[in-house]
Amino acid sequence: MSEPAAALDTSSVRAFLDERHLDQAQQIAEFAGRSIAPLPEPPDDAACRIQARQIMAGLGAAGWFDPIIAQDFRACCLIREALAAASPLADAVFALQALGSTPVALAGSRELRERWLPAMTSGQAMAAFAMSEPEAGSDVAAMTTTARRHGDDYVLNGTKTLISNAGIADFYTVFASTDPSKGSRGISCFVVAADQPGLRFVRPLVLSAPHPLGEIAFEDCRVPASCRLGQDGEGFKLGMATLDRLRATVAAAACGMAGRALREATGHAIARKQFGKPLADFQLIQEKLARMAIDLTAARLLVYRAAMERDRGAERVTMEAAMAKAFATEAAQRIIDDAVQILGGQGVLAEHPVDRLYRAVRALRIYEGTTEIQHLIIAGQLIKRAKEESGHD
Ligand SMILES: Cc1cc2nc3c(=O)[nH]c(=O)nc-3n(C[C@H](O)[C@H](O)[C@H](O)COP(=O)(O)OP(=O)(O)OC[C@H]3O[C@@H](n4cnc5c(N)ncnc54)[C@H](O)[C@@H]3O)c2cc1C
Repeated sequence: MSEPAAALDTSSVRAFLDERHLDQAQQIAEFAGRSIAPLPEPPDDAACRIQARQIMAGLGAAGWFDPIIAQDFRACCLIREALAAASPLADAVFALQALGSTPVALAGSRELRERWLPAMTSGQAMAAFAMSEPEAGSDVAAMTTTARRHGDDYVLNGTKTLISNAGIADFYTVFASTDPSKGSRGISCFVVAADQPGLRFVRPLVLSAPHPLGEIAFEDCRVPASCRLGQDGEGFKLGMATLDRLRATVAAAACGMAGRALREATGHAIARKQFGKPLADFQLIQEKLARMAIDLTAARLLVYRAAMERDRGAERVTMEAAMAKAFATEAAQRIIDDAVQILGGQGVLAEHPVDRLYRAVRALRIYEGTTEIQHLIIAGQLIKRAKEESGHD
């Protein structure tokens, strides 16, 4: 955004970080301030798509996608915090490189990993993650895109909607049903090159914040069986494992946006005078700032706890990641809304950083599992544990 992003303050989450993370935090904050924050907000969707590819090339050349493949989730969280504070679009670019390539890294053959992962990390190939459909959003298992086996190939048919990077990605990680009678156990996952015949970019879907989004269709799209990721029928599990790993990083992006909003609001409260005093002298403003700071600190503690558990080798961090995502994205919405209020009329001007954050943060409560779905996940885990402990069915 217009002004350089401030250094990432790691003091409140220091207990969750290793030494290398402290250096990374400083370096990514500097990079974001120097190379990302000065970029103007793209004026329309076409410009947004061009800028997204430019950002990808810059992040790749600087090595910022490497922690995705290293599966260093705390580093990924720090990167998303810094990028989201500087430009929510840059954060989305990072997020989709991770989301689209993690299934390849987890379950791809050596050939597929060699074909796509170095190109992704170097910023030469853009990834996308194609799971959602017009009739299958939260209920992923309701997907109707099919992949029928024909000899050495699968033939894909169906529509995927609300897909980030649709139309500008170089490859798509695609979820499709190979056996509709089996529900979620009949879903498989494929990596499909964007230029594969039968894969069509249908249309862009334009958000109020810059974010390349759109719809794609598969029309008798023939994909070699060697492009399947993992075993037939294991796609749902692979998709959930990917989301489980990356959910805390969505929460980190929310913290980055909220942290920027809090800095903007505090700076304004000190500088702006009304009734002969700085706004910061009014207790009603102080109360808002205090609540914003408490919410942000609590959110960051949940984020880095979840990421650290995963980095330490926990196979699933379902509960921790769901708590981090639900809390941080909801808190960021409140924090940014309060920042707009403290900024007054300035805060709703389209070019102001807090207005850009206000438009960008909303989608985080929806994508990669809505807040309601996170609550269902958390409650489901609690109830399962309670049943195991009590012996009740
Ligand atoms: C900016 C953006 C980028 C996206 N990028 C991608 C992408 O790259 N790839 C991809 O595959 N998808 C992507 N999505 C899609 C996203 O994952 C879905 O929007 C999300 O899963 C919700 O699905 P839905 O929009 O169909 O809402 P629905 O599932 O129809 O939900 C509507 C509302 O009902 C609630 N709800 C649904 N079920 C329940 C329930 N059982 N109990 C209580 N409440 C419930 C939801 O929480 C929500 O509030 C993106 C979405 C957005 C907004």
